[in-house]
Amino acid sequence: MAWGRQHRRRIGVMGGTFDPVHHGHLVAASEVRDAFKLDEVIFVPASAQPFKQDRDVTHAEHRYLMTVVATASNPNFTVSRVDIDRPGMTYTIDTLRDLRAQLPDADLFFITGADVLPQILTWKDADELWSLAHFIGVTRPGHELDPEGLPATGVSLMEVPAMAISSTDCRSRVKAGKPVWYLVPDGVVQYIAKYGLYTAGGKATVVGQ
Ligand code: ATP
Ligand code: MG
Repeated sequence: MAWGRQHRRRIGVMGGTFDPVHHGHLVAASEVRDAFKLDEVIFVPASAQPFKQDRDVTHAEHRYLMTVVATASNPNFTVSRVDIDRPGMTYTIDTLRDLRAQLPDADLFFITGADVLPQILTWKDADELWSLAHFIGVTRPGHELDPEGLPATGVSLMEVPAMAISSTDCRSRVKAGKPVWYLVPDGVVQYIAKYGLYTAGGKATVVGQ
């Protein structure tokens, strides 16, 4: 019987390093939320990541706070600390297991850009990922959206407005003294300046840390 049954919540999960969060992330999350009729998208800043060990990633607390600042005005966006509060490396399987435990009555939709999609098969416990979430691969300028090898039923592909923005480019711009206005939300521009992030002499520690 359908009546009386509670609506299962549909929750998007946007994992990333967010160093810094930019409008490419926000547009992708917003488009997927609309297309898949999601109730909410949770941004999940990663702790250390296995694929990013070759560079110094900004302190997790700064990345978390920038993501909070960037999403604060959207009632359907939230930010989770599950990954930054779990000791050690961030693996998506742990992110999804933790969120599943926190949200037992929700269907999870993991959002990922075209550059990351081909890597999924190499992730820890890849076989189990599909049972925890439906995966949504979104287009990203400079990357082909190729689902080869991924299970057809577990993955959807979606075109989103092309935002040729990357965190790597934002960091280099700040370092070179170039603007990041309109690439990242205004509050994030100001946060970066306030803490001197991405500049050689930056005071990249969070108050109290
Ligand atoms: P970096 O250059 O440091 O790798 P990034 O811009 O790729 O940063 P991430 O935090 O690595 O940002 O990305 C988080 C998620 O957002 C990934 O799934 C990535 O593919 C996706 N993503 C990032 N930028 C875009 C964009 N411009 N369009 C669509 N998806 C994006
Ligand atoms: Mg990236």
